[in-house]
Amino acid sequence: MKKSLIDCSLGELREEFIRMGEKPFHAKQVMKWIAQQKPIEEMTDISKELRGRLRMNYTEGYAEICRVLTAADGTKKYLFRYADGSTVESVFMHKDYGNTVCVSTQVGCRMGCAFCASCRDGLKRNLTAGEILAQVVAVNADQGEGRNLGNIVLMGMGEPFDNYENVVKFIRMVNDPAGLGIGLRGISLSSCGMVEEIKRFAEEGLGITLSISLHAASDEKRARIMPTAKKYTVQQILEAAKTYFLKTGRRIIIEYAVIDGFNDTQEDVFLLKDALRGINCHVNLIPLNGNDGIALKAPDKRKVYAFCERLEREGISATVRKSMGGDIAGACGQLRQQYIGENGDKA
Ligand code: SAH
Repeated sequence: MKKSLIDCSLGELREEFIRMGEKPFHAKQVMKWIAQQKPIEEMTDISKELRGRLRMNYTEGYAEICRVLTAADGTKKYLFRYADGSTVESVFMHKDYGNTVCVSTQVGCRMGCAFCASCRDGLKRNLTAGEILAQVVAVNADQGEGRNLGNIVLMGMGEPFDNYENVVKFIRMVNDPAGLGIGLRGISLSSCGMVEEIKRFAEEGLGITLSISLHAASDEKRARIMPTAKKYTVQQILEAAKTYFLKTGRRIIIEYAVIDGFNDTQEDVFLLKDALRGINCHVNLIPLNGNDGIALKAPDKRKVYAFCERLEREGISATVRKSMGGDIAGACGQLRQQYIGENGDKA
């Protein structure tokens, strides 16, 4: 199989050119074109002869848009297909702080969270760094002229820390000024709480925002909806998050999907208060996005705001996440599930 250009970091592209007996400066040219999703033939500052050799030996590695849904608020949900037929989702959102794309890091997921559609069929495979980058490049190109994609959230399908090396390589590549050059301050990653990886990530010198999917503050309750809770305790996860804050100075975001009658009682307020003591964090409340086949219940909007107020009264910084693209299959993995339903499970 031909190597894909989008999978190469700047350093790797330089090595490829040296191997081909060419000058390494072509690496920067290629990286710039790849960021613009151009075909090799349109990389016009490279000689025709060299473009021909690139075509013989490489593919660009772009992802094919297989379906797009646009919501009334401008949110766009993309279903991408890779060369092997695997599909993943990405979401484009106009946020207050700028245009944001939410990317997937794996095809499926093996974490098994009870409420999440991404886990429905388990993990199919990891995405390479280039396959993750291909989502950003495609969404960026699809915005047309004057585009200004400023933020990336690694909150789509998959557990980013279950695909650690590729995710770290992706972050470095998307941040590279030779490519899209998206600032690290505009990047955040969400994890269900893989303790060793959080600590390792703190040492990478990236300093992006880390979100932790907590969803319940007691181990017993958490284990009922998140199988990973059997491996890591809330205390271990929050200790690792604290280390991350101390290393990077980035405030931790605690994600909490509010599930009616399950994790929104006064006892939960006190449990959260205890658990988060001494941690520089902000709680992001996500009203459960109900999907077919789960017994968990989405709460009434008013109840979510009331829960938020009760947290604030206890001195916990909290907000309710603004729901976007509510009229399309917005939550993790829902669009892919629809597609699989129509096209069989090869996706
Ligand atoms: N695996 C990572 C990223 C995945 S999804 C993680 O666990 O953090 C991003 C967030 O959406 C996570 O907090 C996840 O728990 C949450 N989520 C997934 N499905 C949801 C649903 N149906 N309703 C509300 N939140 C959901």
